Amino acid sequence: MAFSTPKTTTSLHQWSKQYIRHQEGVRNVLYNKPPTFQRASVVEQNPKIPSPSLFSSDTGSLHNQPLALPTVAECAIHLELLQTFQHLRLSIISSEKLDTLLGIELNRRTVFRKVSKGYQRYEHEEVQLRDMTFDERRQTKWSLFLSLAATRFLVWVELIEKDRSEEIPLPPLDILMVWHSLLLNPKWFLSLKYVKLSRTPFPWDRIHQAIDSDKSNWPMELPHRSQFHETTGAHPDLLTWLTMTVRSEPALELLKQHDTLVEGATQKGINKADLGSLLQQDVLSTSERLLLQTLQSALSDDPTIMDLVAAVTRQSAFVEKMDRQLWIRSPAVEGTLRRALQRYERFLKLFKMYPRKMLVPTLDIDIAWHTHQCSPAQYMEATKTIAGRFVDHDDKLGSDKLDVGLENTISLYWIRFAEEYEYCLCWDCEALKSAIDGKEVEDIDARAVAKQVELDVTYHRAVEIARRGEQKLLPLPTAEVRFD
Ligand SMILES: [Zn+2]
Repeated sequence: MAFSTPKTTTSLHQWSKQYIRHQEGVRNVLYNKPPTFQRASVVEQNPKIPSPSLFSSDTGSLHNQPLALPTVAECAIHLELLQTFQHLRLSIISSEKLDTLLGIELNRRTVFRKVSKGYQRYEHEEVQLRDMTFDERRQTKWSLFLSLAATRFLVWVELIEKDRSEEIPLPPLDILMVWHSLLLNPKWFLSLKYVKLSRTPFPWDRIHQAIDSDKSNWPMELPHRSQFHETTGAHPDLLTWLTMTVRSEPALELLKQHDTLVEGATQKGINKADLGSLLQQDVLSTSERLLLQTLQSALSDDPTIMDLVAAVTRQSAFVEKMDRQLWIRSPAVEGTLRRALQRYERFLKLFKMYPRKMLVPTLDIDIAWHTHQCSPAQYMEATKTIAGRFVDHDDKLGSDKLDVGLENTISLYWIRFAEEYEYCLCWDCEALKSAIDGKEVEDIDARAVAKQVELDVTYHRAVEIARRGEQKLLPLPTAEVRFD
């Protein structure tokens, strides 16, 4: 009997939770003392997490076979990319250079507070009040950044569509992010009729080459940077472009207006009439002019730009969820993604079996689904065949509808596949699933499995903690740690 029947999987899940997460007493039985790991002595010795082998599965499957689903490698690169997006957002919000440029300052207010100094004696003490609006005002940089990114995307896509070469060069990160979010709205994407973009699978290989997964902020280094500059005149790095280009006094004054309205959309603080008249004058350098023209389009209330900004903003919530799960650094990432893809295929089959039901994915199925949507032509063909129709992805649904859809999917999945649909996807539970995957129940030494899983997870956590602590030399696995 295979071990992963619904009943045993559920009971093992409960059991592992007790063993691994909640029972300190049990922990002591498993390990007399928590495992310690030696540090690498040189950077070259540092462990590679995610392992390079994760990306060695064929990433070309979507290119060759129209009905093939995404691969584990493609989903893994997708997880890397979402980390890069997450850190891009954090870097924009925390950029002090951008604060200065946009006039976002800490407003310290001094007040005098009456304090008791003994019987009927009072004094007035000077108190500095915390600026409660500062964090909120800093967040507004992100929506301005997105409006500019959407504008740059529209310029870029027009050039790409006109260009005769078959291959699409990897665009700068801000443009890639807008492209990615647009693809996650398949019906809308089709309606825009981008011929070349529609038939091009997402450039997973090149994205993987460009991202540095050894760094805790997952930076993406664009190859052929000068090519983008030559064709568009703009800097490939939008943040650098913004903070380095504006030099003339009137332009600097204009951008400082960004923070003049605290309530609502502060990017409207930049006066559009002032911007227009500045562009009429001769005071600007060529590069400043181009930047301000882009800004003018970004603030123009163009519905496509606004819709693109909204699409990226909706995606940010998913990006944050993936950052919290952080499967890409977990010991079970290969298994998590392999199971996600199997479950995604079943999810698509449910659409064919129950054409009238609304179905809702779990987080793991969602990453497989999103990866598939990023290659629009293949997605269209495959869903028509496997799901019986072109399946749109509506990320604008409210929680009421989603709850009903999820209930539907849980019961239909159970009826059709006799397995749990929703379960815990944390590192521990996923590592446990990977450890027993495909094994016969009588072959499993439950205690040994629990011990191994705890060690693997503890090690991977130790590496991540060290990495986040900006430590250059990371913990090394002991001989017992399963690590490839
Ligand atoms: Zn769990």
